[in-house]
This record gives sequence, structure tokens and C-alpha cells, in this order.
Amino acid sequence: MDFEYSQKTKDLMTRLNAFMDQHVYPNEKTFIEQVAEGDRWQPTKIMEELKIKAKEAGLWNLFLPESERGAGLSNLEYAPLCEIMGRVIWAPEVFNCGAPDTGNMEVLERYGSPEHKEQWLKPLLNGEIRSAFAMTEPDVASSDATNIECRIQRDGNEYVINGRKWWTSGANDPRCKIFILMGKTDPDNPSRHSQQSMILVPRDTPGVKILRHLPVFGYDDAPHGHAEILFDNVRVPASNILLGEGRGFEIAQGRLGPGRIHHCMRLIGLAERSLEKMCKRALTRVAFGKPVAAQTVTLERIAESRIMIDQARLLTLKAAYMMDKVGNKIAAKEIAMIKVAAPNMALQVIDWAIQVHGAGGVTDEFGLSYAWAQARTLRLADGPDEVHRNQIGKMELSRYITADAMKAYSSSRK
Ligand SMILES: Cc1cc2nc3c(=O)[nH]c(=O)nc-3n(C[C@H](O)[C@H](O)[C@H](O)COP(=O)(O)OP(=O)(O)OC[C@H]3O[C@@H](n4cnc5c(N)ncnc54)[C@H](O)[C@@H]3O)c2cc1C
Repeated sequence: MDFEYSQKTKDLMTRLNAFMDQHVYPNEKTFIEQVAEGDRWQPTKIMEELKIKAKEAGLWNLFLPESERGAGLSNLEYAPLCEIMGRVIWAPEVFNCGAPDTGNMEVLERYGSPEHKEQWLKPLLNGEIRSAFAMTEPDVASSDATNIECRIQRDGNEYVINGRKWWTSGANDPRCKIFILMGKTDPDNPSRHSQQSMILVPRDTPGVKILRHLPVFGYDDAPHGHAEILFDNVRVPASNILLGEGRGFEIAQGRLGPGRIHHCMRLIGLAERSLEKMCKRALTRVAFGKPVAAQTVTLERIAESRIMIDQARLLTLKAAYMMDKVGNKIAAKEIAMIKVAAPNMALQVIDWAIQVHGAGGVTDEFGLSYAWAQARTLRLADGPDEVHRNQIGKMELSRYITADAMKAYSSSRK
């Protein structure tokens, strides 16, 4: 493995860092102020202005490997760029690289029909609309997606959708025009992984009822937000099904890999930024006659943060490398590993940064409490830690398993 960044990546990193310095960091307060003005669920002026600038600067759609529609970067090349964007929570959208759109665009690119691409992928890639992914349901443990109950039933040339979803991120944003919904087309299929399908549901279809937004530790994440939605006899054309009935899990495997690793790349940026804040504060704040930075406990935490961030970055790069070389399916273990490691690393680093800031750390003043809240959700979103650990553990065991051991293992689980 060669983790030296390519010349193309290095050039883009320089340009992206310059853009962040010139346009994003100076507008961090402006963004918050504009969200707070009037209706919080309306897009901000600053975001739309910066999107135009990013497009003009050629810093647009940097994700999307193996596609003529992207910037032609591999996952490995994209990783350090995504990290830079992740330093400011709302910045990825400026470059049309925000969640959940990147994962959704990859689904449309890989599994959409030419018509789906024309109608939905094109405006998404242009940054004209946004999208949401509706899988999780309030009534069932959705970390096990075979539990999902939402029904997708064929009726002539249409599908009829009935169910309730929650934590559909981005659905509150008026620019969100399309949902990718996972539900069951064949709940009686003996193969539990062939019961589900994914289907495109335009947000303005009759019967789509946004019931409420769900706050994260009190933050509303406006204008993006996370919604609870009722799908009440929602009818869409049969051609809206992605790939075909029963292929939902196959698509989920394809979607969740990139979506997960993008979260990890951004989290590394968020942790770097928090460490930067920790160091600057520790150098200037004096307690008991010396700067907080001179207290050995702080030095220890700074050192440990550096170690943890670099470890997480290397594992992210390895996962990205594997995705490029052997594909998302075979890279599943590395993706699962970093999906556990990155949020836990970021949470620890941010927590130490909060501690160095004293009570100021838990206010909105330094952006650390919001950063912590965001990082905490990623121990749940896109699959809880435990589910990924189970998967990693099983893969590890499978290297040693013999027929006898397999028998003993299976009978112990009955
Ligand atoms: C901010 C945020 C944004 C989100 N965005 C989206 C989105 O856009 N679209 C979407 O569809 N969903 C989204 N989600 C939902 C998220 O993906 C789910 O919350 C997650 O998959 C877990 O499902 P659940 O909440 O039903 O937890 P449950 O399945 O009820 O699990 C609860 C807990 O049980 C434990 N557990 C579960 N399985 C195991 C196991 N095998 N071994 C050990 N312990 C286990 C874990 O501790 C787990 O946290 C989002 C969530 C958050 C917080």
C-alpha cells in the first residue's frame, strides 16, 4: 500500500484548504446566524452563494469514484479532501459532498435506470435538489434491516407504499425532492434478505406526510433535520423500483459502504479541528500559574489525540484503498472497522477539547458541543457499533473455523 497522496489530490487539497480559509471559516458565524433568522427550515443565502463559488473553483462532486459524472477521484484520493471538508459540519454541502446525498447519488449512479439518472441524479449532481434515505422505522429494531415492515405492494403499473419511517435525514429541507425508501415487496419470501426492495419516492407524492423533526441532543440540525414520516397509500410508478424487487439488501451493501466511510473521513477532520482548538486554548489559558498546556494531563491528552487521529486516518485510508482495489463488498471488514473506530476516536478527542475549554466547552461558543453531538450520533447512524463489531468478530472467527468448531458454535447459539 502506498499512502502518498497523488499529485492530483495534493493540488486539490491546496485549493480546498484555500477555499476553506477564504470562504468557509470566515462564514461559520454567518451560517449559524442565517439559520436562526426567520424560518429555520429554509436554506441559507450563504450556502447557496458558496455553492456557486465552489462550482466555479472546480471543487464540486469530488466523491463518486468510477464515474464520468464525478471528479475522477478514487476513494483513496477523495479521503483527505473529505477530511478537510469535515472540519466544519456544514461545509461538505458547499462542495456537493454532503450526507446523505453522496450515498444516494452513488445509488442512482450504480443502480438507477437512465430515466432515474436524468430525472434525479442530474439535478442532485448540479446541487439543485437534495435527497433523503428512508430505511429506519420507529416500531422495529432497524439495526437489523430484515425487521423493516414498510410495505411496497404492486398494483398494476404502480407500487403502493404504506409505513412509517423516522430519522430520515434531510427530509425537512424544502430542497429535498426525492427519497430512496427501503421496504418489503415480498414479506413471505423464505430468504429474509430477498424480501426488501428500494424504491424512489418523490417527496411531493400524495400520502407522504412529514410528521415532525427529531432533534439530536436538542440540536435541530436545521435546515437539514431528521424527520419522522408517514407513507400513507403513497403511489409511485412501478418503474421507480431500483434494480428490481428483492434487491434492497444488495443495494444497501453498495450504498452503505461509501456513505459510512465518508462519515469517517469527515469525523477525522472534525477531530483534527477539535485538537487544533484544544491546543490553541491550552496555550493561552492560565490556571494555577501556568498555561493549561503545561499541565501534564493536558499534554498527555494532546499526545493521545494525535495518536488516535493518525491511527484512525490510516485505517480509513486502508479501507478506502481496499474499496478501490477489491470493491466495497470485500472491503466490508475494513469499512466496519473504521465505522467503529472513527466515531469513538472523535468523541474522545472532542471530549478532551471540551475539558480544556472548561465550561465554555459545553456552550455553543466554540462549536465543540455541537461537534460532540454530531460524532455521538455516528455510533448509531449507519449501524450501531455493536452490529459492526459482531460482523468484524464473525469475519475474524471465520479464518479459524473448522467444521467441528462451526457445529459447536451454531448449537451454542440455539
Ligand atoms: C442523527 C441520525 C441520523 C440518521 N439518519 C438516518 C437516515 O438518513 N436514514 C435512515 O434510514 N436512518 C437514519 N438513522 C437511523 C440509524 O441508522 C438507526 O438508528 C440505526 O441503524 C439503529 O437502528 P435503531 O435506532 O432502530 O436501533 P435498534 O435496532 O433498536 O438498536 C438499539 C441498540 O441495540 C443494540 N444492538 C442492536 N443490534 C445488536 C447486536 N447485533 N449486538 C449487540 N447489540 C445490538 C445496540 O446497542 C443498538 O444501539 C439516523 C440516526 C441518527 C441518530
